[in-house]
Amino acid sequence: MAALLTPNRILIAFLLGLAALPLFAAQFTVTIVNYIGLYALVALGLVLLTGIGGLTSFGQAAFVGLGAYATAYLTTRHGMSPWGTLIVGMVITTAVSLALGFITLRLSGHFLPLGTIAWGISLYFIFGNVQALGGHGGIDGIPPVELFGLELGSSRAFFYVIWVTLLAAIITTQNMLDSREGRAMRCLRAMTMTEAMGINTLRYRMVLFMIAAQFACVSGWLYAHLQRFVNPTPFSLGQGIEYLFMAVLGGASAVWGAVFGATAVSFLKEWLQDWLPKLLGATGNFEMVVFGLLTIIVLHRARDGMWPILMRFIPQRELTRTVEPALALPRRDVPECGSDVLQVLNVTKRFGGLVANNKMNLTVRAGEVMALIGPNGAGKSTLFNCISGVNPATEGEIRFMGQRIEHLGSRAIAKLGMSRSFQHVRLNQDMTVLENAAIGAHLRGRKNFVQSAWRLDREEERRLLWEAAHQLQRCGLGEHLFDTCGSLPLGKQRIVEIARALSSDPTLLLLDEPAAGLRHLEKRALADLLAKLRGEGMAILLVEHDMDFVMGLADRVLVMEFGEYLAEGLPQEIQTNPKVLEAYLGGMDE
Ligand code: ADP
Ligand code: MG
Repeated sequence: MAALLTPNRILIAFLLGLAALPLFAAQFTVTIVNYIGLYALVALGLVLLTGIGGLTSFGQAAFVGLGAYATAYLTTRHGMSPWGTLIVGMVITTAVSLALGFITLRLSGHFLPLGTIAWGISLYFIFGNVQALGGHGGIDGIPPVELFGLELGSSRAFFYVIWVTLLAAIITTQNMLDSREGRAMRCLRAMTMTEAMGINTLRYRMVLFMIAAQFACVSGWLYAHLQRFVNPTPFSLGQGIEYLFMAVLGGASAVWGAVFGATAVSFLKEWLQDWLPKLLGATGNFEMVVFGLLTIIVLHRARDGMWPILMRFIPQRELTRTVEPALALPRRDVPECGSDVLQVLNVTKRFGGLVANNKMNLTVRAGEVMALIGPNGAGKSTLFNCISGVNPATEGEIRFMGQRIEHLGSRAIAKLGMSRSFQHVRLNQDMTVLENAAIGAHLRGRKNFVQSAWRLDREEERRLLWEAAHQLQRCGLGEHLFDTCGSLPLGKQRIVEIARALSSDPTLLLLDEPAAGLRHLEKRALADLLAKLRGEGMAILLVEHDMDFVMGLADRVLVMEFGEYLAEGLPQEIQTNPKVLEAYLGGMDE
């Protein structure tokens, strides 16, 4: 049984069944499957937006309406060809989504949902109240689409247009997600880390919002030419919420979840509309109540929707478990050994009344390991955040490769060649070790999301993955390339962060407690690796509690206490410094 049900066979059977459906099925079935295709296209956009990007839109129905009304109005009133109106609709959608995204996406979480609700309501009333758009009566007489001189007037013929469009959207979306661009999108929820890897998170949120809006617009265009008539009802806020049901129920983390969600909701709705009035003895939109309850249950019991549950019953496709060799990526110039890479001058960081760093000074040179030590709460991670731009300094000056950087954000600093790991691991736990490390190489690629959707990025992609795999090998994680990060012990996850940082080819590496959670031999391997990197001319700034590790590796050590400078010197000097010994007698926790 299991051998019969391979993923490829299931997919082929599904596609063959789909292709044959209009030839044999009853009109009713063709109609409902057409609608499922239209809904799934919108839900696919929501999978990207909500499942991947962590953003919620209630206003997708308004974008559907935009696509539908643009073609309805322009074909009937101005005699434009449907293909022309498709382009006009998409251009308007781009403009609206960029404007709406620009206003709301910079603000925190709930501004986008609120913005889309406002947009959804206003567009619905515009459709209903503008006389040129036919008011509540709508617009009829929309011409059919013609393709190669063939008129696609019947819903059976149009079935193929809808489903070919949907499948193309699914395939291109899958391609996009499996690329440098997609990895960045999949990390959007971990914004601090993503920005620190040089990724412009606002740009990617905008791109996701715009793609989702385009899918909705195209669905609207298809709808208008299927129905040949539009009125405002299908583009209301209520329908926008129903699209969200589909994405959430189906599974907002998988592209096929959109198809499943659209199918399940459509059939359930038909069924409930038949049965609920009989059961309750009254008419009304009771199905929405049921959907609401179902959504709560699904969110509570199965965060990722029904699709992953369904997938448990189907044997999974064997993942490719090799990384193809590729040309090495170009590297940055290494500064002269011993030259100053980082200078921190009188840096102060205040959190309200708390002075976490008080007039700190520090220098790191190329080809040197500088250790920063001090009891918990001394302000070491805070100083790292000031240096890397994750949480900028309140006062003082920071120079990196001779350039002032204290006013720059973490993304700009990453571009200059600084990379870091975090004390509290920041990885995408669902992505593989290889994909996580490849996030570090983001800035070394150029291909955009359109190129990756059409697989025009493969050469570059091979080089990026090869680089990430190489860095993981060096860090001793060669066996784990295809494991999900979440399956690794915490100590190893820290090493993935180091490989990720190395994948950016940094001049300066900031490591916040890299050896925590490692076993003895792993610590030794890490020390060997850092010594090797130093030998290659890299500048390394290290925070670590394990004194054997620090003293055996560091060239110089700086000690902090209560946000202040305590001592600086060679490891042996620090080990015998009375002030340091005193600070450590009570404070150290490891
Ligand atoms: P360390 O890394 O040396 O253990 P930290 O830099 O994490 O110390 O913390 C230094 C001090 O700054 C602590 O008292 C901590 O509570 C405080 N602190 C750190 N980050 C923040 C923040 N974002 N907001 C307020 N206080 C903070
Ligand atoms: Mg810390």
